[in-house]
Amino acid sequence: MKIAVFPGSFDPITIGHVDIVKRSIPLFDKIIVAIGVNTQKKYLFSLEKRTEWIKEVFKDYPTIEVSSYIGLTINYCKEIGAQYLLRGIRSASDFEYEKTIAHLNHTMESEIETILMLSPSEYSSISSTIVREIILGKGDVSKFVPIEIVNGLSCHNV
Ligand code: ADP
Repeated sequence: MKIAVFPGSFDPITIGHVDIVKRSIPLFDKIIVAIGVNTQKKYLFSLEKRTEWIKEVFKDYPTIEVSSYIGLTINYCKEIGAQYLLRGIRSASDFEYEKTIAHLNHTMESEIETILMLSPSEYSSISSTIVREIILGKGDVSKFVPIEIVNGLSCHNV
C-alpha cells in the first residue's frame, strides 16, 4: 500500500494545498494530510479547527485522511508506515528550501521518498501567511481558501 504524508501547518488550508492533494490522489493508495504541531509556534486557528476544516474539505475523498503529529515529519512517516513525503512547490525559493530538507531526510531515512509537486502558476502566490493577513485585516479570502473555510470564518471570531 502506497501511503503519502502531506505535512504542513494548514493555518488555514488554502486552495493551493487542496490542489496538490487532489492531483496526488491517483499516485497513492492513501494520503494523510498531517498537521505538524510545533510547540514554539503561534497559530491563528486551533488544531481542532484546522483539523475540522481539512476533514470537511476532503469528506468525499475516501483515500484522504487527516491527522496531526509532534516532532520530526520523517519520524512520523516512519511511525505510520508511510513511504512518501509529499510537498508542494510554488517558487524557486520553495524548491531550494524543500531540496535541503529532502536531502537531510534522505540521509536520516533513505527509504522514505520525498515527492515534490509543482503548483500551477495561478496558485503560486497563495500562502497561508497571506490568507491570515487578509483575515486579520477583515478582507475577503474567498478566492484563496475552500468554501468550507469561507463559511466557517463567517461564524468564527479572530
Ligand atoms: P509549512 O508550515 O510546513 O510550510 P504550509 O501549511 O504552509 O506548511 O504548507 C504545506 C505544504 O504545502 C508545503 O509543501 C508548501 O510548500 C505547500 N504549499 C503551500 N501553499 C501552496 C500553494 N499555494 N500551492 C502549492 N503548494 C503549496
